[in-house]
Amino acid sequence: MKPATFAYAKAQSVAEAVATLATHGDDARIIAGGQSLVAMLNMRLSAPSVLIDINDIPGLSDIAIEGDSLKIGALVRYTQALRSPLVAEHAPLLARAIPHIAHAAIRNRGTLGGSVAFADPAAEMPACILALGGSITLSGPDGDREVSADDLFLGLYETALGPSDMLTGLRLPLHTKESRVGFAEFARRHGDYAMVGLAATARARGDGIADVRLAYFSVGQCATRATGAEQALAVGDIEGAVAALETDLDPTGDIHASRDTKMHLAGVLLRRVAAQLSEAPK
Ligand code: FAD
Repeated sequence: MKPATFAYAKAQSVAEAVATLATHGDDARIIAGGQSLVAMLNMRLSAPSVLIDINDIPGLSDIAIEGDSLKIGALVRYTQALRSPLVAEHAPLLARAIPHIAHAAIRNRGTLGGSVAFADPAAEMPACILALGGSITLSGPDGDREVSADDLFLGLYETALGPSDMLTGLRLPLHTKESRVGFAEFARRHGDYAMVGLAATARARGDGIADVRLAYFSVGQCATRATGAEQALAVGDIEGAVAALETDLDPTGDIHASRDTKMHLAGVLLRRVAAQLSEAPK
C-alpha cells in the first residue's frame, strides 16, 4: 500500500518543529529515522496531514557528558550510539542492548529519540532508559521540560509527550565502578522483536546489590518495572524475585507466545540477569 497524501515540512530548528506541531496538533507527525513511522504510513495505520522532518536540525545528533549525566541527542542513530566510546564507558547497558535491535540497515537510520517517543511495548530502548532511571528532555510551546523515565510510559504507544511536544534528548546517569547492568531477551531469530526482554541496573553494596531496577519489555502495554522482584533481588532472594513476577507483571498472550509462556520466560530472564548483576565488571 501507499501512504495517504501528506504535506512535508523540513524543520531547521527545534522552535520551528514545535511551532509546526502546535499549528497542526494531532494532524502532524515528526519523522526521525522513519523506521517505524513509514511502515505505519504505508499500512495507513497513521495518516497525518503534515510530516515534520527533524533530520536537518543541528545539535540533535550529539553525545556528550553534561554535569553528572550522559546527554544523547534525539537524532542519535543506534549505530552511532554503538560506536560511541562515551556510550561504551558511561552507558554500557545501551551498548549491550542495541545489537539486539533489528538489523544493520534499520540501526543505521533508527534513532534513540524516535524509539523512546514511539514507546513500542517490544522495544529495547524504553526499557533501558527506565532501568537506568534516566529522563528525557521535551520541547513544547511553553519551553523545555525534563520528564523522568518513571513518568514517561503511560500505556500502549502512550507517553507523557503532548501533541505539540518534541523529544530533543535523553539524559542518563553516568555508570560508576559500583554500577551493575544486565540485559537479556528472547526472540525467535536474532533481530526480531523480543517475545520477552529485561533490562536491569543495580549498585554493588558489600557482597550484594542494592537499588535494583528491573524493566521488562514485551510483557505488557509498555516498558514495565517489576518492583516486587526488585525488592527480593536486593536481599538476595532470587526465588522470591521470580515468585514476585506473578504480581509485578500481567502480560497478555499474543501470536508469538501465550501468557503462561511469557511468564515462564520472564522468570528465566530474571535468573540470567540476576547473575549478570552480581558479576563484578571485568
Ligand atoms: P520514526 O519512525 O521516524 O518515528 C516513530 C514515531 O516516533 C513517530 O510517531 C514519530 O512521530 C515519533 N517521533 C520520532 N522522533 C521523535 C521526536 N524526536 N520527538 C517526538 N516524536 C518523535 N525496534 C526495536 O526497538 N527493536 C526491534 O527489534 C526492532 N525491529 C525492527 C524491525 C524492522 C523490520 C523495522 C522496520 C523496525 C524495527 N524496529 C525495532 C523499530 C526501529 O527501532 C525504529 O527505528 C524505532 O522504533 C523508531 O525510531 P525512528 O527514528 O525510526 O522513528
